[in-house]
Amino acid sequence: QSQELSQVQIDYHAALQALVEDGTRMVCTGRMHTDRICRFESLCYSTEAEEFVYFHSNSSVMLPNLGSRRFQPALLDLSSVEDHNTQYFNFVELPAAALKFMPKPVFVPDVALIANRFNPDNLMHIFHDDLLPIYYTMQQFSDLDLEARLFFMEGWSEGVHFDLYKLLSNKEPLLREQLKTLGRLLCFTKSYVGLSKITTWYQYGFVQPQGPKANILVSGNEIRQFTKFMMQRLNISLEESSSEEYIVVFSRTINRLILNEAELILALAQEFQMKTITVSLEEHSFSDIVQLISNASMLVSMHGAQLVMSLFLPRGATVVELFPYAINPEHYTPYKTLATLPGMDLQYIAWQNTDREDTVTYPDRPWDQGGIAHLDKAEQERIIKSTEVPRHLCCRNPEWLFRAYQDTKVNIPSLIHVIRQTVKSKPRPKKQKWSGSLYPGKVRDAKCQASVQGTSEAKLAVSWQIPWNLKYLKVREVKYEVWIQEQGENTYMPYILSHQNHTFSENIKPFTIYLVWIRCIFNKNLLGPFADVLLCST
Ligand code: UDP
Repeated sequence: QSQELSQVQIDYHAALQALVEDGTRMVCTGRMHTDRICRFESLCYSTEAEEFVYFHSNSSVMLPNLGSRRFQPALLDLSSVEDHNTQYFNFVELPAAALKFMPKPVFVPDVALIANRFNPDNLMHIFHDDLLPIYYTMQQFSDLDLEARLFFMEGWSEGVHFDLYKLLSNKEPLLREQLKTLGRLLCFTKSYVGLSKITTWYQYGFVQPQGPKANILVSGNEIRQFTKFMMQRLNISLEESSSEEYIVVFSRTINRLILNEAELILALAQEFQMKTITVSLEEHSFSDIVQLISNASMLVSMHGAQLVMSLFLPRGATVVELFPYAINPEHYTPYKTLATLPGMDLQYIAWQNTDREDTVTYPDRPWDQGGIAHLDKAEQERIIKSTEVPRHLCCRNPEWLFRAYQDTKVNIPSLIHVIRQTVKSKPRPKKQKWSGSLYPGKVRDAKCQASVQGTSEAKLAVSWQIPWNLKYLKVREVKYEVWIQEQGENTYMPYILSHQNHTFSENIKPFTIYLVWIRCIFNKNLLGPFADVLLCST
């Protein structure tokens, strides 16, 4: 059923005639290849050439019309990972008249979203690079609804978590390989190409060592809207079911093991007087894990992709990430960054094994599982002696892989101590409460009045009205910030005030022009915009 494209009946003859006469039409958003998403009518794909094809005719449109800059380096990124040179999108051009000599096109009637998955074998990559960006790209364009069809062009097979991609739309996603079975020349009636990067929070270290993105634009609210959607699609009820509180230990069973897991579970249960359960991707279904995590008070896990599941934790819960020996938690922060996004309302705690006695290394494994036997002796010795992996670029640094795939005996007192520094009482999820913070509008009707006393003294009386939105809000604390700047100077005097008027006399000179800037502040840190500057002459 999945590969049946013709549920929507289309008039083949009319479609072909439209393609020949109108050609391809493209209009994009974004100024650079890294922030561009394009909408196409009649974009085609040759499964033999493995190239997208743009047909020129009387009515074709190409915006932006970049000329050869389209290849410098590409029209757009097909995955959500910024400017990755294996993930570029472009098309080849032909006159529509060439269709006469080409295989008969097969039309794709569904609205299509065409993109690359980045690494569909790794759960962190799946959520961060694919699922969230696809979900919010679909939210951006109203015809990308549940009847749209996803086309994954990266060339991978389904991967272990393909079911997750299927949740995003009612139609089965199609992979590049499968397109061959549909025809030699496919033409997408309506398609969008590229993914929004607006929700991504981490860069993996391709050009500089990994870390949070420089300009994070997503908050916990959008993450939770997405998890709510995913849970509905998984048929997991949102209601805070049983009131029993518990801790989840998310374990890995193949590598990067916790060697004393039983002891750890007993200690957590004892310390926090809570039921403590273990889950793993190998032993539990994905929806069972989501169900359990979505009501947990605390999630404890070794560093690793499974920790991205903390996006399903309830507000107020605690994430405890365990790092193997010689791995500095500050250098690997995808899950810390997630947990501490504004509005995620999670507590984040990192623990690191600092004791060589408690680590088990695997120098003889293959290089991609952290083996170092292929390196020269001196390098092997340096790595074994080292107490911290220096910062490095992605993705094949042998010292990093060696340390990342160690097993760890968790030092229980040290771990409990670190958790207790943050979690004083019982960890518990907060009752679902909207915790969005609202910013003040501009102050209104600002006025100033100057008075001069003698030749050296002057006063400036400034008044204003409350921001318009304040009368509809309950705000704990309302303050005003006023900056007074002498015209032509680049310094100013800042004041924080509680009332809507104030007379300034300090440092106010007669026969001078002052610029007065006023803004409102809610609850100490919610800074509103400045109102239009006031010009005041003494
Ligand atoms: N994985 C797992 N159990 C294991 C080892 C790996 O569930 O014992 C999962 C892991 O969560 C990730 C994928 O397998 O989704 C690839 O793991 P890898 O160690 O390559 O990546 P990392 O977790 O370090 O990002």
